[in-house]
Amino acid sequence: MEQNNQEKGKVAVIGTPCHMIAAAKMDTFSDYLGKSPLDIKIGLFCMENFSYSYMKQLLEKYDADMKDVIECRVEKNYFWFYLTEDRLVKIPLKEAKSCMRKNCQVCMDLTSELSDISVGSVGSPKQWSTVIIRTEKGLELLKNAENDNYLKTKPLTESGLKIIEKLATKKKKENKEEIKKREKVGRPVLYTRQISKDEFQEEVQGCQFIDLKSDVIDVGTCVLCGACVLACPENIVSIEDRKPQLKGKCPEDCNLCYVTCPRTYIPEEILSADSSKKPLGDYLKIVSAQAPMIKGQDGGVATALLNYALTQKMVEEVIIVDKNKAHPWKPEAKLTNNVADVLSASGTKYAACPVFEPLKSLKDSKEE
Ligand SMILES: Cc1cc2nc3c(=O)[nH]c(=O)nc-3n(C[C@H](O)[C@H](O)[C@H](O)COP(=O)(O)OP(=O)(O)OC[C@H]3O[C@@H](n4cnc5c(N)ncnc54)[C@H](O)[C@@H]3O)c2cc1C
Ligand code: SF4
Ligand code: SF4
Ligand code: SF4
Repeated sequence: MEQNNQEKGKVAVIGTPCHMIAAAKMDTFSDYLGKSPLDIKIGLFCMENFSYSYMKQLLEKYDADMKDVIECRVEKNYFWFYLTEDRLVKIPLKEAKSCMRKNCQVCMDLTSELSDISVGSVGSPKQWSTVIIRTEKGLELLKNAENDNYLKTKPLTESGLKIIEKLATKKKKENKEEIKKREKVGRPVLYTRQISKDEFQEEVQGCQFIDLKSDVIDVGTCVLCGACVLACPENIVSIEDRKPQLKGKCPEDCNLCYVTCPRTYIPEEILSADSSKKPLGDYLKIVSAQAPMIKGQDGGVATALLNYALTQKMVEEVIIVDKNKAHPWKPEAKLTNNVADVLSASGTKYAACPVFEPLKSLKDSKEE
């Protein structure tokens, strides 16, 4: 079914829950930040994320090299690395947690509550994905993709739903404790403070990169999403040594990086006070789904949805996260209109990825 509703410049993005918060801020503050091209937001479930270099070192302790890894999975309290020559390295999650990124300890969202459609593994059988549909746009995307045989769905079992709710509640509860601990010792976690849009305006006024550094980067809440790189009109922010860095002087009245960051303040219009009480956030429908033609991390559903959106010209391009060629399993975000790229990016890379960085080229080309 050809939809022919392509609007030039529309983009679909896939990412973790923290990426979806940044995307929601881009929508809400488009008056300041400029119109966001992000039209379809596909969020992943995410309990935690890891530092690529620490993971690499940990694997070396087990006499294994990232370049030999064929598949990674987090399951049953282990990190499973499937390697060439039928080798399997199983690392207890407790041990792997030493590689967890600090920012993930204060994250309250398991299921990408601000996406159009969320996809995860927990709750569904092997080789199926759990799909939470949150908006009418997400509902239409899933319905049309199913009608056109890109994927199939079935009801999520009650026990599946309970498992997801239990995990999401655990994440919110445990990380709330960590947030309280950090706040007590003067390490703010600004994004969880409840403020109105007017208060937001006051708080962010006059805040520049120097404040982003002290309020987010230096206190260990930066999720490394790349939204600050994208927002900067002066092109003086880049990610180096796994941190956003400033290379220049900010004009006096600019605060765009601070406004867009998912770890500075978030007004309640975006993240309501209720969100900490609802384990999975608001949603319309929840199902299990599978795209049998795709070899994905779980049901291949994330890839099938991106593929469908691109093929049906619902968007012009998609942002995907592939593996870096020089550093195997290091995630690398790409903006593409090529279905082959989407297919080759299937599978989870368990490390942080600045997914918004590639949008910079799109923005720059529009400004020329
Ligand atoms: C860091 C991380 C932690 C996760 N933790 C959980 C969890 O605790 N519980 C759970 O149920 N599910 C978790 N997931 C989601 C799960 O691993 C699968 O991605 C999801 O079930 C979709 O499976 P699929 O077969 O439909 O995806 P596929 O069709 O295989 O597509 C995967 C898509 O994910 C994108 N992607 C891969 N790595 C990244 C990345 N680092 N950042 C952003 N996008 C990426 C790729 O571009 C690809 O389009 C996690 C995912 C990530 C990235
Ligand atoms: S902050 Fe960490 S745990 Fe939370 S969504 Fe981002 S990567 Fe996942
Ligand atoms: S110019 Fe603006 S967006 Fe860029 S770093 Fe400075 S304050 Fe941030
Ligand atoms: S500082 Fe930049 S990279 Fe880090 S979370 Fe904020 S916007 Fe994302």
